[in-house]
Amino acid sequence: MTTPALAPVGVALLGATGSIGSSALRVLERQRDRFVPVALTANANVQALAEQVARFSPSYAGLVQPCDEAPASWGRGASCLVEAATHPDAQIVINAVVGAAGLPATLAALQQGKRVALANKETLVVAGHIVTETARAHGGELVPVDSEHSAILQCLAGRQPHEVKRLLLTASGGPFRTWPAVRIATATRADALKHPTWQMGSKITIDSATLANKALEVIEAHHLFGVPYDRIEVVVHPQSIIHSFVEFVDGSVLAQMGVPSMELPILYALTWPERVPDSGVPPFDPVALGGLTFEAVRHDDFPMLGLGVGAGRAGGAAPAVFNAANEVAVACFLDGRLHFRGIAEQVSAALTALAGMPGHTLEQLLSADRAARDLVMAQVGG
Ligand code: NAD
Ligand code: MG
Repeated sequence: MTTPALAPVGVALLGATGSIGSSALRVLERQRDRFVPVALTANANVQALAEQVARFSPSYAGLVQPCDEAPASWGRGASCLVEAATHPDAQIVINAVVGAAGLPATLAALQQGKRVALANKETLVVAGHIVTETARAHGGELVPVDSEHSAILQCLAGRQPHEVKRLLLTASGGPFRTWPAVRIATATRADALKHPTWQMGSKITIDSATLANKALEVIEAHHLFGVPYDRIEVVVHPQSIIHSFVEFVDGSVLAQMGVPSMELPILYALTWPERVPDSGVPPFDPVALGGLTFEAVRHDDFPMLGLGVGAGRAGGAAPAVFNAANEVAVACFLDGRLHFRGIAEQVSAALTALAGMPGHTLEQLLSADRAARDLVMAQVGG
């Protein structure tokens, strides 16, 4: 699949105008002998999508939000995600949409036996069992773009499940890693959007400040690699150079490292299990790094990690409730309707009220998702 051939492999890119989307387009442009964007979607940014369409001439473009300026030839509405993901020219789908909105397209692509290069971790948090079962049943491939999971995939290469003792996910700790609890309580939107090591979309940047992102990633790792929750741990690593560790049953530990650029895991998700030459990041210089340090998570000051992992362990609808309540609470924090601590308060209240909802089927999970959104909206006020 990854050797340059006569016809490059077609790639559908969902969320093309976002942070991962634009990194993915840089990778695809450098690797144009191997891959070609054939479908692009965006939520609302008509101008950015129009520029990408002019540049890459995909067979399909789609915009989710209604917009008079969108060309008549574009797909429109939420269904454009599934249309792009199932486009006949696309063999690989990069899902770089933010939030549970990415779930139907992931499922549709897997049902057609495609590879999904998954940045949209919320897909696995909302419906992990259903997504992995859909991939298995239809021969679809789920390959992570998230840097921690790409690291684990690389460390696991060729190993059997019984050889793995523990997964150790690294976390940067976010902008409030060294802040005392009283100061965290006063954190503003601008404070929370200042991520120390990664440039990302606003939702995941806030999730990194609360550590909700690491909870989503523990759940993601559980589903991707089939490792039980009591064998997945988190360590704070402020430099974001080691992207995760795998400890094996003989006591050996493998780590994957590299400069913090999402272009590396995006490319690996496209070419896995192969590697291809690329020049996307500067050469690795260990001396220039200075040092790599590690710290324990301050669970009391960052309750979202424990809440999310607890929801993962509880299973059923709990992870979907955690995710949906968090999505709404983060949006409310970003538009000034909730203070920083309010995010964890809202998510905790939603879990108490709704985590016991049934969560076996997709319909049940989507009902739990809606109930959690409605509850937080009602609490915070429109
Ligand atoms: P972003 O906000 O920069 O971009 C999101 C993209 O999705 C945009 O193109 C937007 O138009 C589209 N979108 C937003 N809401 C949508 C909706 N309701 N329906 C359809 N499309 C919608 O976000 P991002 O930082 O690129 O993150 C995308 C996903 O990748 C998230 O799940 C995030 O957790 C994950 N991720 C991001 C990074 C990173 O470095 N940015 C790293 C790891 C994982
Ligand atoms: Mg990550």
